[in-house]
Amino acid sequence: AFDRVTKSDNSKPFLVFLNPNSGSGKAIKLFFNQIVPMWKEMNIKFKVIDTLYANHAKELIKQIDLEKYRGIIVISGDGLVYEIFNGLLSRSDWQKSKAIPVGQIAAGSANGFSSSIARLCGECFQFDKIENFASVMSFVFAKSKPIQMDLVSVQLENRIFINSFLNIEWAMVADVDYESEQFRFLGGSRFVIGALRRVINLRRYKGRVSFMPADDYINYCPKDPNVNILKNTNNYSDKFLERQRLKNTELNFEYKYLKPLEEKVPNDWLTIEDDFVLFCAVNLPLMGTDLIISPDTKLDDGCMMLTYVRAGVPRLRVLQLFDDAAKGKFLENPYIEFVKVKAFRLEPLDDHKQGNIMIDGEKVHYGSLQAEVLPQFVRALAN
Ligand code: ADP
Ligand code: MG
Repeated sequence: AFDRVTKSDNSKPFLVFLNPNSGSGKAIKLFFNQIVPMWKEMNIKFKVIDTLYANHAKELIKQIDLEKYRGIIVISGDGLVYEIFNGLLSRSDWQKSKAIPVGQIAAGSANGFSSSIARLCGECFQFDKIENFASVMSFVFAKSKPIQMDLVSVQLENRIFINSFLNIEWAMVADVDYESEQFRFLGGSRFVIGALRRVINLRRYKGRVSFMPADDYINYCPKDPNVNILKNTNNYSDKFLERQRLKNTELNFEYKYLKPLEEKVPNDWLTIEDDFVLFCAVNLPLMGTDLIISPDTKLDDGCMMLTYVRAGVPRLRVLQLFDDAAKGKFLENPYIEFVKVKAFRLEPLDDHKQGNIMIDGEKVHYGSLQAEVLPQFVRALAN
């Protein structure tokens, strides 16, 4: 384990990854106009790499001598941040490499990472111009220290493991995120357009959501008394359960709470089976500048906030959710249910077996998945 706030060698350069194609394609301009002049002034050293294609940064990060750098800064949306964390953990020396602190300067259409860090640092995160946000963050990073951050380990069907720093989306949120990718050039407005289209064609998704509540949510009580919370009784013997430990074959460690996906969930988990219109689990407080999902979520709380809306919500109320999210009142919306969890399992029960599941904004195979928070597993740049 590392100290909560650790020493960093500020004489080393930052390693900067830039995605020229993220968001409305402003990353290069942002870097040379807003960031470089400030860092030159402050005597901050850096080495910059332009990514040439998707997964380029993930490949490069495997071979780089990380000892040489003070931290990694990505100038992009959340997609490149996701590549960095997954790249760091795919290294054979991941136990060591995961300690390098990571930061983001917002240049994408969704910038959940930098928005969350800015808010947690008490900095402004809502700007009319993305250029001003870049200036704020380049200053924050110039004087930053590494701090601990939770990562979420996700298991998909067919024993696929993925690391998520931000969120796991299903139903409407995932549909909006995926379908609006064609409007990436609009920056953050792409979600508004995507949401309008989805609200008009509001879809319901049948599914089963099971979760291990956080300590302060053991007596979880939904706002709507009609939510049917099922208790699990699997009648397994202690001996059997002991054998049912799930191993992450990528990182070679055993999970604390997850059992094999084929087995029933443990008895201390709760289950809700229903028709959902919206489902999203977040590890950070913000999913984007105007998407303040869980304002009190901390970087290192060892938990995710699971949020959902069940079918039956009036269309206009769904639109209200976006407005509430921009004002930090998402969880106060009467239709939003939320519960803090350490682990969860999602089983889509649609007949047609199709839909979208997004992890950190990247589309993954549609099917069952489960996730467990790895407390204070990686590090972020913050002040
Ligand atoms: P946005 O917020 O607009 O989605 P991201 O930075 O999240 O922007 O990047 C979107 C996608 O682009 C990610 O899947 C990422 O892996 C991919 N990507 C990264 N570098 C490049 C590149 N040079 N060309 C094309 N795609 C890239
Ligand atoms: Mg957390």
